[in-house]
Amino acid sequence: MAGNGKGRTIGIDLGTTYSCVAAWKHDRIEIIPNDQGNRTTLSYVAFTATERLIGDAAKNQVANNPINTIYDAKRLIGRNFSDPTVQSDMICWPFKVIPVDADKPMIVVTYKGEEKQFTAEEISSMVLTKMKDIAEVYLGSSVTDAVVTVPAYFNNSQRQATKVAGAIAGLDIVRVINEPTAAALAYGLDKGVTSSVAKNVLIFDLGGGTFDVSVATIEGDSIEVKAIAGDTHLGGQDIDNRMVNHFIKEFNIKKGKDISGNPRSIRRLRSACERAKRVLSSTLETPIEIESLFEGIDLFSTISRAKFEDLNMDLFNKCMEQVEKCVSDAKMEKSSVDEVVLVGGSSRIPKVQQMLQELFGEKEVCKTINPDEAVAYGAAMLAAKLSGEGDVKVQKLILFDVTPLSLGIGLNGDEMRVIIPRNTTIPTRNSCNDIVTMFDNQTCMDLPVYEGERSKCTDNNLLGEFWLDGIPAAPRGVAKIKVCFDIDENGILNVSAEHIGSGVKNNITITNYKGRLSNKEIERMIRDAKKYKFEDDDFRKKAWARADLENYAYNTRNAARSAAKLTAAGKKKIEDVFENLTQWLESNKQAEVYDLKDKKKELRTIFNPIIAKMK
Ligand code: ADP
Ligand code: MG
Repeated sequence: MAGNGKGRTIGIDLGTTYSCVAAWKHDRIEIIPNDQGNRTTLSYVAFTATERLIGDAAKNQVANNPINTIYDAKRLIGRNFSDPTVQSDMICWPFKVIPVDADKPMIVVTYKGEEKQFTAEEISSMVLTKMKDIAEVYLGSSVTDAVVTVPAYFNNSQRQATKVAGAIAGLDIVRVINEPTAAALAYGLDKGVTSSVAKNVLIFDLGGGTFDVSVATIEGDSIEVKAIAGDTHLGGQDIDNRMVNHFIKEFNIKKGKDISGNPRSIRRLRSACERAKRVLSSTLETPIEIESLFEGIDLFSTISRAKFEDLNMDLFNKCMEQVEKCVSDAKMEKSSVDEVVLVGGSSRIPKVQQMLQELFGEKEVCKTINPDEAVAYGAAMLAAKLSGEGDVKVQKLILFDVTPLSLGIGLNGDEMRVIIPRNTTIPTRNSCNDIVTMFDNQTCMDLPVYEGERSKCTDNNLLGEFWLDGIPAAPRGVAKIKVCFDIDENGILNVSAEHIGSGVKNNITITNYKGRLSNKEIERMIRDAKKYKFEDDDFRKKAWARADLENYAYNTRNAARSAAKLTAAGKKKIEDVFENLTQWLESNKQAEVYDLKDKKKELRTIFNPIIAKMK
């Protein structure tokens, strides 16, 4: 462990559906189980009348509290409210999301009887806090730093927002790493990276909400990502939606009822579909039975694997298109790919595996690494390397990643001038110094920054407007501007522009995400996060003190009831005190720990002399 107050560094796979945490312990990377013994933790946060629940406990109470149980924060993070994907996701969410400050999405919940609004960064920070807590219990020491994974196709805003989520959770995110790259690290270690024969692997990561594919070359201690492709909005949930829509239609035809407007029915149907989908990964047909789904009418039906595949064929095809694109971006033939590595829960779908097998011929599809844990495993390897905790093998690892999208500036109206092409190894820096003014005496220049692969800017994604002010007046075409793009190892872009000659400069970290939080807002959120954590701990301590008091009272009463030596008067006294306590607990639901402890002391002073006579 590092000195100077620093705690351990862990690896966190912050998934849309499940999160997983790992760290270096006992001379190896260990996946850390949560308080329920599960090696992955649901990325859920719930708010109730009395407490906040994070992880598996939040999902367990979803049936009674759907509107205050939040999931899918990763689908919101770094996006604007008006983003079409946010608009379409919202239809499925039972919780409320509203726009504030122009276009920032805010999640609205009722917590302890009060309305509260949270950003996606705050909800994600709560999941990160949970993962940190899980690790601290297991490691027996404090955790201050983390390597956190993001989908390779996450853009600038989404990466930055993820870093902010870490800051709110009190975690220093020392590196943001692409999920398939982390999986490649895990695979490399599993296969023994020491082999000097270069091996090309394709990592296929299909999770709950995102799809990533990457091609990497593993040689000796070095893992070099050659290309990445994917879709930040394609995963198991989209597959579930197809099944949900299928059964809504079927119910409408068979029973003449439209359930689509009933959130409770839809939620029950969605859970049943998700379960059926998993079953279909190992059987050819499965029943789907929900009693009293809508207006007392049951849904009793079946779905075959063939039907399931038919409903999702276009999604599977989309995945394969990205696979082909990635291989060609890596400037390889499919035949040069030595192995295909499956990652993410949805990669268990047989049709997906079969389509991959068909694409790559006789090539082995690797199932030896755990698809649910590989990403956290790789993140923890990098964490161990960065903090100097790992062994020689880990320390020697060299990792080269790439940037997923081309980055450039808009010139002459709508022309995209690419400054860093996609799949460039990061960190990287590139500049262009032939940008000139377009008008006579132009002293100010607008430089919009875009990401994307189209030649017209308007077809790409605007990352931010960038101004250079104070250019010395000159005829058009004379003043020259140098623009420099810099991508750090987290994949985050900084842009600077400078007038050549006068040295007039401007410098910014690019983002167009309207919800970008100011430092002041982040500080407020850090304070809030501490407050909520304190409240959670306080609630738990009270619950323990309450249970302890109740147990003591019950045990004493039960012992008294069956004590032969105790007089009827003694028994009555204990029954009365017990009855009083039950009433006291009922009317003091908010009792503090010290009240509860005092009460126990009070009981002891009454009970002890009576108990002494029982013996
Ligand atoms: P994320 O990283 O996005 O949180 P995961 O990699 O944990 O996602 O995968 C979760 C998804 O995998 C869910 O949509 C779940 O329904 C799906 N999944 C899990 N097991 C299976 C299976 N056996 N067959 C099909 N889908 C599965
Ligand atoms: Mg994942």
